[in-house]
Amino acid sequence: MGTGRAPRVLRGREESVTDSRSDCLFCKIVTGEVPAEVVREGERTVAFRDINPQAPTHVLIIPREHYRDVVSAGAAEVGILDEIAREAGEIARAEGVAESGYRLVFNTGPAAGQTVFHLHGHLLGGRGLEWPPG
Ligand code: 5GP
Ligand code: ZN
Repeated sequence: MGTGRAPRVLRGREESVTDSRSDCLFCKIVTGEVPAEVVREGERTVAFRDINPQAPTHVLIIPREHYRDVVSAGAAEVGILDEIAREAGEIARAEGVAESGYRLVFNTGPAAGQTVFHLHGHLLGGRGLEWPPG
């Protein structure tokens, strides 16, 4: 019956952008299965130091829920990007880079260098940052 189709399609779409993935590294950091140096936890977010820091402050801010990238998270209209931005402000203050300035980066897709397909904002600061970026 046609009535069964729409929910099935919708459910499939939601799963593709929000469900935690057994093979997702950052989902495993959220659950604690993979250790990380966590600097701040929110109800819906976790922030931890990048394992290969590109600046004196290099923190990754991620949602607990799985979204493949910033655009998928925006499309879901759940307010998670606002929350990540708020967390970034708090972390920048705590790290002492709020005054000097810092960069918040969302690499999106392979050509931009996205290697982990669980939304993460890079908070980079503590040194001068070139523009345009490489
Ligand atoms: P992307 O290249 O996808 O924008 O960023 C992924 C980031 O995750 C990279 O900067 C990389 O260094 C970091 N990363 C990869 N694996 C791990 C890990 O196991 N732990 C932590 N803390 N960071 C990681
Ligand atoms: Zn994930």
